[in-house]
Amino acid sequence: MNPVVDEEICIGCGNCAEICPSVFELIDEKSRVVDPGACEFAECCEAAAENCPVEAISIED
Ligand code: SF4
Repeated sequence: MNPVVDEEICIGCGNCAEICPSVFELIDEKSRVVDPGACEFAECCEAAAENCPVEAISIED
C-alpha cells in the first residue's frame, strides 16, 4: 500500500497527520507522506484517507 497526497488538492487541514502521524506529517501547510511503508501496518492510514475532507489522499496497491 502506497499512500499518495495530491498537494494541489490538499488544503492543509491536518486531519491526516492527527489521525495517522506515523504516515503523514503537515509541513508548510501541506500533508507529506513521511513513511509510506508504515501504511502497510497502520490501520490509521486508510482512516486518514477516508477522513480527508477534499479526498486528496489515495492509497495505491
Ligand atoms: S486530511 Fe486531506 S486536506 Fe487535510 S491535510 Fe491531510 S491531505 Fe491535506
